[in-house]
Amino acid sequence: MIDVLIVGAGPAGLAAGLYIARYRRRVRIVHDGSSRALWVPRSRNVPGFPDGIIGADLIARMTDHAMRYGAEIAEGKVVEIARRDDEGGFRAILEGGAIIDARGLILATGVDTNLAQLDSGDHGAAVRSGVLRYCPICDGFEHSDERIAVLGSDLHGAAEAMFLRQYSSDVTLIPKWQVALTDAQRSELAASGVDVLEGRVMRLDATKDAMLVAIEGEAAPRRFDTLYPAFGSTPRSELAAMLGPWTDPNGCIPFSAFSDGLLPGVYAAGDVLEGLDQISVATGQGAMAATRLHNWLREQEGHVMADQK
Ligand SMILES: Cc1cc2nc3c(=O)[nH]c(=O)nc-3n(C[C@H](O)[C@H](O)[C@H](O)COP(=O)(O)OP(=O)(O)OC[C@H]3O[C@@H](n4cnc5c(N)ncnc54)[C@H](O)[C@@H]3O)c2cc1C
Repeated sequence: MIDVLIVGAGPAGLAAGLYIARYRRRVRIVHDGSSRALWVPRSRNVPGFPDGIIGADLIARMTDHAMRYGAEIAEGKVVEIARRDDEGGFRAILEGGAIIDARGLILATGVDTNLAQLDSGDHGAAVRSGVLRYCPICDGFEHSDERIAVLGSDLHGAAEAMFLRQYSSDVTLIPKWQVALTDAQRSELAASGVDVLEGRVMRLDATKDAMLVAIEGEAAPRRFDTLYPAFGSTPRSELAAMLGPWTDPNGCIPFSAFSDGLLPGVYAAGDVLEGLDQISVATGQGAMAATRLHNWLREQEGHVMADQK
């Protein structure tokens, strides 16, 4: 049995793996190759990288860093997780049937971004060139003073448009189907200078340097420098749910799961928790989850001062 199994090799899982390895424990990180960080064209808000870093490069560096200190990293999808009641610890089953037994667990499984469907243009290329964006906190700055569109008909879309107003005076909220805002919400947007369109979207076409949005009843498509679909994300919390009723109605794991744990020996970190979905947050939570889990294991081993518990 290994000391720690970490599910996820994004910033949260890799930071946790580095810490656990440097606590001189046997740790295995299993991931299915779908870290959202791999999508990041170039992040400019990761502290220490003022010229930005490409998400895939950051993951490669973090992978190398954790492996240098002994973390084992393997690709695979964990499909089942359970407590081993008799022997203690936890058992993970991977697609294909492989089994991993571990004394402790860290779930760093992230979220799935709810994507926009393009009628033409390649989705990945549009994200890479920046005409399609999913995270205003991450890259709103890069679109300062540009023509920005937010796709979303509800309060979530309105809030995202309002957030982007900090970066540009030219922000337009476009409903996917129909506007679902109260008069008061419309007034707030109008007072902040956010334009709200009424007609639904007929086509979304990504070009090399713009997003073209065809609106019902309008003769020509509108051109925006970038478009933010405000469709939210879906937490990948199914493994946590197998261990107990930990998730909220939105599928998020509670924020305290990186510090207090979910149950003895189980911690979680990163986007899968409620809170701010950011690389620096994920790495911090990974470090904290790893340290708390290490201390919990030390307690089992009798290596903690009784008065410190
Ligand atoms: C387009 C885009 C741009 C972004 N730009 C920025 C930015 O500039 N700055 C910033 O701070 N943040 C940015 N983000 C957000 C950032 O990518 C995330 O906050 C970060 O990746 C979260 O790290 P994480 O480790 O929690 O999750 P992830 O990086 O998503 O990693 C989740 C891991 O879990 C694994 N996994 C999940 N379920 C299973 C399973 N059952 N079995 C095996 N493996 C599993 C996946 O393979 C993956 O390795 C951006 C996101 C997107 C989509």
